[in-house]
Amino acid sequence: MRKDLYNWKYQKVGEKVIENLKRKKHDAYLVEKKEDVVPLLNTIMKENSKVAVGGSLTLNECNVLEFLRSGRFNFLDRYNASKDELENIYFEMFKADYFLCSANAITEDGKIVQLDGNGTRVAPMIFGPKYVIIIAGMNKIVPDLDSANKRIEYISPMNSKRLNFDTPCTYTGKCDDCLSPERICIHKVIVESGVRHPGRFKIILVKEDLGL
Ligand code: SF4
Repeated sequence: MRKDLYNWKYQKVGEKVIENLKRKKHDAYLVEKKEDVVPLLNTIMKENSKVAVGGSLTLNECNVLEFLRSGRFNFLDRYNASKDELENIYFEMFKADYFLCSANAITEDGKIVQLDGNGTRVAPMIFGPKYVIIIAGMNKIVPDLDSANKRIEYISPMNSKRLNFDTPCTYTGKCDDCLSPERICIHKVIVESGVRHPGRFKIILVKEDLGL
């Protein structure tokens, strides 16, 4: 597809998703490119706040981890933690001011869909941190929940392989609905709405493809 048509499509779909996320009482932002994410975070996040992240390629691609390591935040850095420290971080995350992660899929009508293995991404997303900031590329946008499920089925083997988990899909590229102890598809969560805590979720949608 021509680049200008591609941009036009992303703008049109992006605006629709943002409108529906706002209708569901989330804060939502549409930005042009991954380089716009950190400046926006700079305006949203308060200095010296406690911050945690869920595992995400997108955060890396947008230089968010570097931003959080700037010394301006109390960053619970899961990537520079020993095994014992990591266990502690998983519990401390619930007391964070901000929890940042990406999404596995966002439907055009504004539902956020996450699939998780040990639950350390979906649990603080549901409960605990004052704010949840989700950063997602346009490749995460799907028409509906059926498409979200298909997307998740498609990307899970890739994620399992990327993380080098000992699951059938790591070796075959296909889901076997396995009972492996390292299964990454355990908890599927759909955030239907933010009406109970308006503005707790802040979704930054980037008009590029990011992460898996
Ligand atoms: S259920 Fe098992 S085989 Fe299927 S995608 Fe998840 S980890 Fe892979």
